[in-house]
Amino acid sequence: METRFKTLREFPLDEYLSPGATMCAGCGGMIVLRIFHKALGGNVVIVNAAGCLTLLQVYPYTPLKSSWMYTAFASAPAGAQGIRDALDILMEKGKLPQGEDLKVVVLTGDGAAYDIGLQSSSGAIERGLDFYYLVYDNEAYGNTGFQRSGATPFGSSTTTTPPTNLNPAGYSGMKKDLFEIWRSHNPPYLATIAPSHVVDMLRKIETASGFRGPKLFISLSPCPTGWGFDPSETIKLSRLAVECGVWPLKEAVYGKVRHTVVPKVLKPVEEYLRRQNRYAHLFTPTRQEEAINFIQEKVNEYWLKVSATEGHEVIKPINLAEKQTE
Ligand code: SF4
Repeated sequence: METRFKTLREFPLDEYLSPGATMCAGCGGMIVLRIFHKALGGNVVIVNAAGCLTLLQVYPYTPLKSSWMYTAFASAPAGAQGIRDALDILMEKGKLPQGEDLKVVVLTGDGAAYDIGLQSSSGAIERGLDFYYLVYDNEAYGNTGFQRSGATPFGSSTTTTPPTNLNPAGYSGMKKDLFEIWRSHNPPYLATIAPSHVVDMLRKIETASGFRGPKLFISLSPCPTGWGFDPSETIKLSRLAVECGVWPLKEAVYGKVRHTVVPKVLKPVEEYLRRQNRYAHLFTPTRQEEAINFIQEKVNEYWLKVSATEGHEVIKPINLAEKQTE
């Protein structure tokens, strides 16, 4: 399919999110929502699972020009099903013209997507619900004080996984692979996106809109408040996550995976980690070589597998052994 998004020149100019929302400055999730809405246009109803972005709406004010419904953590896909069914029934009875149909979008943080609402999203995918599911993944429970979630990566310090004598590296578990959990359901469309890669994101939303059924997007959402960085660095961090290979950009159409941005040479993960206070304990007061190497090796393993399965010759992961003898 020929894309209408070739460069940033095609970035849609219409705005559906007014300035002045009561969110943290530099919130990656807000940037993604703004771009996502531009790509979908104005005929949208947002079903918002409890999380940071529910604070967009402080009654009676809203920065959104689209319709919006708030649900509990666990039930946004069920809310989306109710709205989709109501729209379909109204159109079938001729009470709503086809041209006034709405795109149903679940908007959720990682807490609802990876943990509390996983059951209801699994059910919605299984039922083939025609909806968009957008996760702004800031890798912790942001609006309740940055507690660990199922999306928290190894080594991150959160308020429930601080570095201790027993676990000096901070969180000792691994981030769930939500992309693969969803892919096992075989939805028509599934993608990862990042606020730094706008054209990539617009193209993916455009591709997804050609499918009826579940269309799922997981976006890295740098969080200045929880990750500990200056709000002006949101896009820089997002770009670094992609360039270091920590946040692979990919899509899957009926389960077939393709990476849409392939770094020629991966930057060391250290460049990404060092810019965030949540990883500061890996570098001071003493450098935790083993933990840093472990994170790098996991990234290397991932990209070596991608090279082998997709035939990219260009990815050169960092060889830590060589790097240390330089
Ligand atoms: S805590 Fe993080 S994710 Fe939540 S609104 Fe603030 S910057 Fe955004």
